Amino acid sequence: MLDFKLTQPQQEVQPRPVAEQSDQVYDLIIIGGAPAGLTAAIYAGRAALKSLLLTGPFPGGQVTTTDMVENFPGFPDGINGAELAQRIQRQAERFGTQIVMDTVTKVDFSTPPFTVRTDSQTYRGRTVIIATGAVPRRLGVPGEAEFFGRGVSTCATCDGFFYKDKRAVVVGGGDSAIDEGLFLTKFAREVIVVHRRDQLRATKIYQERAFANPKMRFVWDSVVEEVLGEKTVTGVRVRNVKTGETSVIEADGMFVYIGMVPGTKLFAGQVEMDEWGYIVTDRRQRTSVPGVFAAGDVQSPDFRQIVVAAGSGAMAAIEAERLLAEQSGTT
Ligand code: NAP
Repeated sequence: MLDFKLTQPQQEVQPRPVAEQSDQVYDLIIIGGAPAGLTAAIYAGRAALKSLLLTGPFPGGQVTTTDMVENFPGFPDGINGAELAQRIQRQAERFGTQIVMDTVTKVDFSTPPFTVRTDSQTYRGRTVIIATGAVPRRLGVPGEAEFFGRGVSTCATCDGFFYKDKRAVVVGGGDSAIDEGLFLTKFAREVIVVHRRDQLRATKIYQERAFANPKMRFVWDSVVEEVLGEKTVTGVRVRNVKTGETSVIEADGMFVYIGMVPGTKLFAGQVEMDEWGYIVTDRRQRTSVPGVFAAGDVQSPDFRQIVVAAGSGAMAAIEAERLLAEQSGTT
C-alpha cells in the first residue's frame, strides 16, 4: 500500500523567538516568510531597520512546492523552488532581519505601535508588512477532505514520488495544473488532466509541452464530482458539463490546482479587503491603515509570479522605511 504523506518542504529557521523585552518595539514586523516577505526583509535589513519576520507554519510559502522555477531572473537554467526560497532567506539573514518560525494568531492595527501576537509572544511594531500569501483552493466535493494526504494532494512536488508507475488525475487548466502535471509524468505512468472547459488557461509553453507528452491525457469539459476510494484513492467520478454524463476515472490520486485563496482571515476587520478577501493596497503597497503595508499574493490575484511578489515586498519595505523616516523627522 502507498504511504501517502503531504510533505511540505521546510526551511531552516530559528525554532522559537529569542527572549524579547516586552517593551521592545520593532521598526518593522513582516508577517509571512515567502518571497514577498523575505524580499521585504532584505530591504529592511539594508535600511538598518530593526525588523522581525515571522515565517508562519510553512517558511518559503508556495514556491517551495514548485519543482523548477524557470522564470525568475538570474537563473537561466532554472532553480528548484525550495532552494530559491532558502537563498532569499539567507540573503535576508545576512542583512540582519530577525527571522523566527512562529505563527501569528492575532493582530491589532488600531493604533501604532501595532500589536502582533503569536501563541508564545506579543510583538509590537511601528510598521507592519502583511505578506501571508495565498493557499490552494479546494474543490469541496465529497471525498476530497476525507482522502487529503491519502491520495488527494495540492503538491505534486511533495507527493509525486509516491506515484511511480501509478495513474494520477490533475484538476485544473492553469499554469499550476500543467506545470505540476508535467512534473508528475516523471513518476506516473499516466497523468489525466480534468478541466472544466475545452481549452487550457496555461501559458503556451506549458501547453506545448503538455500536448507533446505521451503520458498526459485530457478530459475536457468535465468537473470532478466525487473522490472515490477505500483506504486510499481509487478514482474520481467526473461529470461532463456539456452532456451531463458521469463516468469514473480510475486513478491512484488526485492533484487539485484550481487557483488560490488569500491568507487574510487574520486581518478581517483590521484592513480593507476586496470582495474576494484580497487586501486592498494602493500603488505604494499601502493598506487602509497608515503604517500597515501588504505585498505579494495576499494583495494581488492578478500576477502570482515570484518576481512580482519579490518586487512588491521591496516596495513595501521602502515605503515603511520612508514613513519611519518621516515620523522621526529625518527626511
Ligand atoms: P489559475 O490560473 O487561476 O487557474 C486555475 C484553473 O482552475 C483554471 O483553469 C480554472 O478554470 C480552474 N478552476 C477554477 N475553479 C475551478 C473549479 N471550482 N472547478 C474546476 N476547475 C476550476 O491558477 P493557477 O494555475 O494556480 O495559477 C495562478 C497564477 O500563478 C497564474 O497567474 C499563473 O500564471 C501563475 N503560475 C505560474 C507558474 C510559472 O510561471 N511557472 C506556475 C504556476 C502558476 P478556467 O480556466 O475555466 O477558469
